[in-house]
Amino acid sequence: MTPPVQGTKRSDVGKKEKSGPQIGWQQGVLITSADDKHHHLYSDRIDMNWGSRFHRFYQSTNRSHSQSQFRRGFFNRSKPTDDRPFGGAFEDSWLRRNGFSIAKWGGGLAVLFGAYYVYHLEKVEVTGRWRMIDLSREQEIKLSEKPYQQILVQYKDKILPPNHRDVLAVKKVGKKIIDSSNIPELQQLDWEWNVIKSEEPNAFVLPGGKVCVFTGILPLMKDEVGMATVLSHEIGHIVARHTAEGLGYNKFTWFVTVFIASALHVGLLAPTVTGLALTLPFSRKREHEADVIGLVLMARACYDFKRAPEIWKRFSERPKGEVPKYFSTHPPHKDRIHMLEMSMPRAVAEAEKSHCQPKNSPPFTFY
Ligand SMILES: [Zn+2]
Repeated sequence: MTPPVQGTKRSDVGKKEKSGPQIGWQQGVLITSADDKHHHLYSDRIDMNWGSRFHRFYQSTNRSHSQSQFRRGFFNRSKPTDDRPFGGAFEDSWLRRNGFSIAKWGGGLAVLFGAYYVYHLEKVEVTGRWRMIDLSREQEIKLSEKPYQQILVQYKDKILPPNHRDVLAVKKVGKKIIDSSNIPELQQLDWEWNVIKSEEPNAFVLPGGKVCVFTGILPLMKDEVGMATVLSHEIGHIVARHTAEGLGYNKFTWFVTVFIASALHVGLLAPTVTGLALTLPFSRKREHEADVIGLVLMARACYDFKRAPEIWKRFSERPKGEVPKYFSTHPPHKDRIHMLEMSMPRAVAEAEKSHCQPKNSPPFTFY
């Protein structure tokens, strides 16, 4: 509360008016008219205003100083100044000049890609792994139609007839795996079974259920369980939709490659960097997943899944130089056996659920 100023009584008002304005200091405040309370408040405000005016004046002198510095820096960027750190070497560098743009564009694109990635996340039901899939199953099948037609044309004269013993064997094992898989998406596909007469030891399944087994791999399979091991692995790739995942992942590696190449000025080195850091581990991960799904499919089909590690080991133990291309693209033997052993309890549980009975008829053999 401000104490009442002398001479503000209602009874004094007339007197003061008559005696004229009184100017002076009262209680530390400049009073121009002692009978006017508002005047007193006004004079108080004058004091405050002067304080803030001085503060603003002080700020403005500082600001004009920093503004002139800014102008100097803006218009004479290349002008070397001795007082800058490292003689201005960093400030004049390419990274410093473009760093903000790189961070801005790179950050913006990363946020967009992150949102796109999260939106398209899907789970592989058998293994519980989440991955990005931005193609529908129909689109994935459509994309594989042309390569399949090319294979049929390329091996036109080498495709064995549908009633051939080897074709019937592949179809029997494959159908058994699919029918007992308990995966409707797999059972709805339009399956086609091809055995191609070729020395090349190879086998693959294209999205849409197009199976191609080369006769060169049959002696390596040896028997029905060997064939079930290879087919279950290849069908495992279809279950996890690795083709669609790979196409989506390629977009990601392309983005990282372009960003590394442009941001760090490493040019052609960028694909090597992303290949080593991203593509190879990713393809190994897919192969391991196909092995695990293959083991589960074998167990559901009542095949002796415990023999799977032995069969893969037999394939990898061929003399050096004779390891077929098919196996060289797959995971190293040690890693593979370790992963399979780790997944055995899961396969045992699947086999128990399938109520498998001991077989009466011996498995067929090749050669
Ligand atoms: Zn594979």
